Amino acid sequence: MQEGAVTNATRCRFCRTVLSHTFVDLGMSPLCQSHIEPHQLNQMEPFYPLHAYVCEKCFLVQLGEFVSPEAIFSEYAYFSSYADTWLRHVKAYTDMIVDRLSLDKESQVVELASNDGYLLQYFVQKGIPVLGVEPAANVAAVAVKNGIPTVMKFFGEKTARELVADGKRADLIIGNNVLAHVPDLNDFVEGMKVLIKPWGVVTMEFPHLMKLMDYNQFDTIYHEHFSYFSFLTAEKVFAAHRMTLFDVEELPTHGGSLRIYACHSDDSTKSVSERVTGLKKTEVATGFTEIEHYFGFSEQVKRTKWNLLDFLIKTKNEGKSIAGYGAPGKGNTLLNYCGIRTDFTDYTVDRSPYKQGKYTPGTHIPIHHPDRIKETKPDYLLILPWNLKDEIMGQMAFIREWGGKFIVPIPEVKIY
Ligand SMILES: [Zn+2]
Repeated sequence: MQEGAVTNATRCRFCRTVLSHTFVDLGMSPLCQSHIEPHQLNQMEPFYPLHAYVCEKCFLVQLGEFVSPEAIFSEYAYFSSYADTWLRHVKAYTDMIVDRLSLDKESQVVELASNDGYLLQYFVQKGIPVLGVEPAANVAAVAVKNGIPTVMKFFGEKTARELVADGKRADLIIGNNVLAHVPDLNDFVEGMKVLIKPWGVVTMEFPHLMKLMDYNQFDTIYHEHFSYFSFLTAEKVFAAHRMTLFDVEELPTHGGSLRIYACHSDDSTKSVSERVTGLKKTEVATGFTEIEHYFGFSEQVKRTKWNLLDFLIKTKNEGKSIAGYGAPGKGNTLLNYCGIRTDFTDYTVDRSPYKQGKYTPGTHIPIHHPDRIKETKPDYLLILPWNLKDEIMGQMAFIREWGGKFIVPIPEVKIY
């Protein structure tokens, strides 16, 4: 981390404009991945402001940086491999991109924030050389053990120059759900500029701000997630580093994501697709280039909270039991902002052994193995990772045997 980054919280992390417009203020919240061990239950817990701003110049929606990235990411608990839907998604991506870019055993693929190698394994299966860059030591160690070459580093211009000096220039750089988590955005994007070959391609996936606003996805705002992009703002960021977004796909993942394709701006072998011009037109027409467009979100979030609590209070007054499903980052923002503790939700379950036996940050809801559901037969299952609701309702369909129902809290409380 750069010296002094923490004190720069009031300036835009892209264009340095002073941030004076609130997007939404979700109050004080603990770090979403800091699950509590049983022996920590009676200890003090740090809470940080969860206050998102919108920059009046570049319209980047962002959080101030209150915590060092090392504190957040050195023992990151999120092992992507646990969601089947996500694995299918990245497998399909691999098949598509290998074909589209004609990648082969002479190519070099680099993934930033490569986690445990769950994506790169599909390139390895095709005999395509890969390299993962992953700052979380525990996660990188799993990748290496699984045969995925991985360097344990934060990515930026410095790391990129070291890799280039090592002869590792990339035909393809992949970054899924990492751009939003980067504290020093300009250094990160410049690093990609340095690392790709003259005709190389960068693909990045990140949640689309337009969908976040359309579908009340305020719970995707958490401390580890610094930036929230429209396509127009992402385009500005890449342009500042002499890169062009030449294609884009709108994906259903994480409640609505963009997959952008970037190349060097002087790469004449690629032309900007109609999908790019079409999406830009939509965003302009929706109001993403006017600051007023961002001001309505706060009220929308409050109404979502009131409606969810209204339902939960009514259900508890009827004497019904509620258990949670999942302990994802987004769950913690929802639970903390809405004040949902064991007074509403007896416990939650998660397939990740890393989280079982621990408690949710701030709200201290115990996290159990999914088998617990069969033992206690709750009347309702509150699905916290709502982006995976179809997969989860399939896996947990057996709750219907005792009349159990599913609660999906976002975009608005809905019972299935
Ligand atoms: Zn800005």
